[in-house]
Amino acid sequence: MPLVSLRQVLDEAAKGKYGIGAFNVNNMEQIQAIMEAARETQSPVVVQASRGARSYSQDNYLFHLMIAATELNPEIPIVMHQDHGNSFETCQSAIKLGFTSVMMDGSLKEDGKTPTTFEENVEVTRRVVEYAHERGISVEGEIGVLGGVEDGHGAGGSGLEHLTDPDQAVEFAMRTGVDALAVAIGTSHGAYKFSKKPDGSVLKMDLLIAIHHRLPNTHLVMHGSSSVPQNLQDIVNKYGGHLKQTWGVPVEEIQLGIKNGVRKINVDTDSRLAITGAIRKLLAESPEKFDPRDYLKPAREAMKKIVVQRMREFGQATHSGDYEAIPLSEMAKRYASEMIAK
Ligand SMILES: [Zn+2]
Repeated sequence: MPLVSLRQVLDEAAKGKYGIGAFNVNNMEQIQAIMEAARETQSPVVVQASRGARSYSQDNYLFHLMIAATELNPEIPIVMHQDHGNSFETCQSAIKLGFTSVMMDGSLKEDGKTPTTFEENVEVTRRVVEYAHERGISVEGEIGVLGGVEDGHGAGGSGLEHLTDPDQAVEFAMRTGVDALAVAIGTSHGAYKFSKKPDGSVLKMDLLIAIHHRLPNTHLVMHGSSSVPQNLQDIVNKYGGHLKQTWGVPVEEIQLGIKNGVRKINVDTDSRLAITGAIRKLLAESPEKFDPRDYLKPAREAMKKIVVQRMREFGQATHSGDYEAIPLSEMAKRYASEMIAK
């Protein structure tokens, strides 16, 4: 099937009460790993690219690899999503290229670092929603500011400095008409999320539940939600890496989130760790190897394995055949006639 909208995939996930992993990609092997995992588990999937990924892949390489993914997997609903768009122009260029969903991260200014005011965030996000919905494309917004930095994007800090205010979340969702809303509940981007196993003092699941009660029909998004498994950290370090000990978001907390309105879960660090560990291991054990395929194949396999696991844990497995793609033109009509609740 053609690339589908995020809105359709998340509406279906809400009906089925499961979550959808949104996995970041930069290259062919990562796309292959995700698609093989989706095929094996029969999962609908969100593949997402940051601004850094688009620049790394010169846009066209990445986009045509995604078209290949749809051709090779016609039975799987695939969303192609812009992760952390920093401006109207970034989102517009993604839509022109063929992305079926964009995130307008208006919580930060265009520099991707400085927090904006609430009104600035509403204004730029609403502008993107108007442009995107006319074309049937979905929009994710963000209210509150996540911690950490990834791909040069982020305010830094612990993730506790600008938590989402539930009242503002309600007003933001109403005034912008976003399809999905990223909330700041203490998570951070990058590998170094928590300095110990997170508890309620740093990971605010009670805040997430409060937001869901106020906004029961808005799809919530958890960013910075790699679990950073110990065994993946250990493999990297065993074969010459130097990662500081760190803790991610435990899978059981994500599953609690899924019970409370979380439909999209962003995962990047876990894939990076799996790939790096596999490459380090192969090259350490077989230093005579120099064909890139010798280490890229185990790297791809290692990423596939962690993605398969997450697809089962988030509940999206077995759901790829539940529905047919709604054409983007039909999505546009639905937005225009307000058949899709805002
Ligand atoms: Zn993010």
